[in-house]
Amino acid sequence: MDRMAFLQEELESIKEQGLFNTIRTIESPQGAWFVVDSAKVLNMCSNNYLGFANEPELRDAAKRAIDEFGVGPGAVRTISGTQTLHLELETRLSRFKGTEDTILLQSGFAANSATIPSITGEGDLIFSDELNHASIIDGCRLSRAKTIRYAHNDAADLDRQIRAAGDCRRRFIITDGVFSMDGDIAPLPDIVDVARKHNCVTMVDDAHGEGVLGDHGRGAVAHFGLVGEVDVEIGTLSKAFGVMGGFVSGSKILVDYLKQRGRPFLFSTGLTPADVAACLGAVDMLERSDDRLQRLWDNARYFRGRMQEVGFDTGRTETPITPVIIGDAAKAAELSRQLFTLGVFAQSIGFPTVPRGRARIRVMISAVHSREDLDFAVEQFIKAGRKLDLIQ
Ligand code: PMP
Repeated sequence: MDRMAFLQEELESIKEQGLFNTIRTIESPQGAWFVVDSAKVLNMCSNNYLGFANEPELRDAAKRAIDEFGVGPGAVRTISGTQTLHLELETRLSRFKGTEDTILLQSGFAANSATIPSITGEGDLIFSDELNHASIIDGCRLSRAKTIRYAHNDAADLDRQIRAAGDCRRRFIITDGVFSMDGDIAPLPDIVDVARKHNCVTMVDDAHGEGVLGDHGRGAVAHFGLVGEVDVEIGTLSKAFGVMGGFVSGSKILVDYLKQRGRPFLFSTGLTPADVAACLGAVDMLERSDDRLQRLWDNARYFRGRMQEVGFDTGRTETPITPVIIGDAAKAAELSRQLFTLGVFAQSIGFPTVPRGRARIRVMISAVHSREDLDFAVEQFIKAGRKLDLIQ
């Protein structure tokens, strides 16, 4: 008997529910347009907010780093893998974020895995927004602390839950800065108020806020004028920064501790010289000019406005993440397929990434889209949407 047959049954069930992920193959660099499964299509689903993923300045920095340092870091950073480039990027990110210190990790996911289980423990309570990212949820699962979910972006409910939970050793509040599937922003001033009242440690995962929100893209904390008020900031280097990697910024004590206890830091090899050098190039570009950022936001407002005008539901977004809410997962997948045949690559997203019955196409707007690109996308959405009776 095939011992793995149970997985086939699971796969069949995923397909029957219309939740099977079809993974397409990209055959060119990232850009406004790219080649996917042999077709040139408009790219409406990458997190390459500022176009840095194929930016000549970052490519050149990566090539120079390979010439100087080679391709691999050699070992985990505590053993013999910390290079001057890693330290330089940590210093530059701290300065950019306005924090005392920063630790680099291999990804945003690894940054949550390194931080949450190591700074929380037995007898602690973690208060976590009900729509937090999977990497936060997994970080909480790895912790010995008890996790209590509060209603999405609801500081009053957070306050109630903290009161109801009563005594404990320490309390932590964890939220996404920008929610990746809806594009709404956490009410950080209210959350910080609640945290102060109950003496809670605050942690913000700003994967979609870094490089997008705040002055020159310094993130959600800077956007609300709260620099220095949030204890732990998690970031990724794979979205607006256009490369790969994650980081944790905060106090020197926090970073010193994570370098001793963060398991993905201690037990997994660090970022490559090319990645780190490209990220340094991204920090340079962000600090130098906010032109791309302005273009990104102009594009996001324009696209959202046009989609709403023609009758699509774009949910509660406040950022360039533009969900087009469909509801039924199979219908959302069909819309995505139709769009692809019309030259637009925009993936559908269903359960478990979003709640059941809230399937959507998640459109990601970039600074590299031109007005014509956005108009083209809206026209194709209208054609496909009418065909599937989603709009009039
Ligand atoms: N946190 C949030 C809120 C995210 O949206 C993501 C990316 N999907 C991550 C963490 C993980 O980041 P990375 O892709 O760098 O692992």
